[in-house]
Amino acid sequence: MSGWVEETLHEDLHVKLKIDRVLFDSQTEHQHLVIFENETFGRAMALDGVMQTTEKDEFIYHEMLTHLPIYAHGSVRKVLIIGGGDGGMLEEALKHPSIEKVTMVEIDRSVVDLCTTYLPSISNGAFDDPRADLVIADGRDFVANCEDRYDLVIIDSTDPIGPGAVLFTESFYRDCRCCLTEGGILVTQNGVPFVQAEELTSSVSFFRALFKDATCYLATIPTYVGGPMAFGWATDNAELRMTALAELRARFDAEPVESRYYTPEVHQGAFALPPYVSELIR
Ligand code: SAM
Repeated sequence: MSGWVEETLHEDLHVKLKIDRVLFDSQTEHQHLVIFENETFGRAMALDGVMQTTEKDEFIYHEMLTHLPIYAHGSVRKVLIIGGGDGGMLEEALKHPSIEKVTMVEIDRSVVDLCTTYLPSISNGAFDDPRADLVIADGRDFVANCEDRYDLVIIDSTDPIGPGAVLFTESFYRDCRCCLTEGGILVTQNGVPFVQAEELTSSVSFFRALFKDATCYLATIPTYVGGPMAFGWATDNAELRMTALAELRARFDAEPVESRYYTPEVHQGAFALPPYVSELIR
């Protein structure tokens, strides 16, 4: 491998990260996995040539897909994560003592094993938590056959290519809805709207057909270039996204978590969409 990892996700926009050291570079059963070191981002993982996570900025992504819906809901007990092999989502969800169980369904065991070995700070021991339940399976099959119900379903997937493509379909979202308790929330990683507009438009239009409330919220994550990333939001309880700041603050103070990005104020602001994004989900 040369001295750079070149991300080829977008046809006309390639991003390169300098490799200081390669820690792992091989084909798993499902995808090509590279873990390397870069001075700015720390240790980083790419799958099939697409950046997935880095030690230095993973907290933004993982905090915004866990703490935000957990505090908005107010009484999450059971969480389902689809994807999430690096364990960062599991770690953040399990920071909440009131959460009784987190089931994580990851298609590729090698991602879990290699991230635990080379990127241990991301999961930070979360796989050993007795409340964690790791299932190695395709997330699409899991939700299609799932009889359990969850207060929160988090889709922590790769982009809609390769094994992740099925996690952006209407039938998958319909099955996710069936896995939710009444008033439960579905949140999704939905790409960077400036460069992946169609992905956001299509997911939110599917949500609108299935749920009473559907939108997206935003956070800027340096690894995912092109502006803020969009997270899909879908629930039948339209009040949850309006949860007042005072209530969010009360919930946060009652059950605080250590965070470096999430605050109740950031939470509220994340739903403020600039017109170039709101136009995509009209
Ligand atoms: N944060 C990253 C991003 O936004 O690009 C994504 C994180 S990475 C942990 C996504 C994970 O989804 C990978 O470990 C991949 O193996 C997993 N995955 C992809 N397709 C899947 C499927 N159909 N079922 C379950 N997991 C899947």
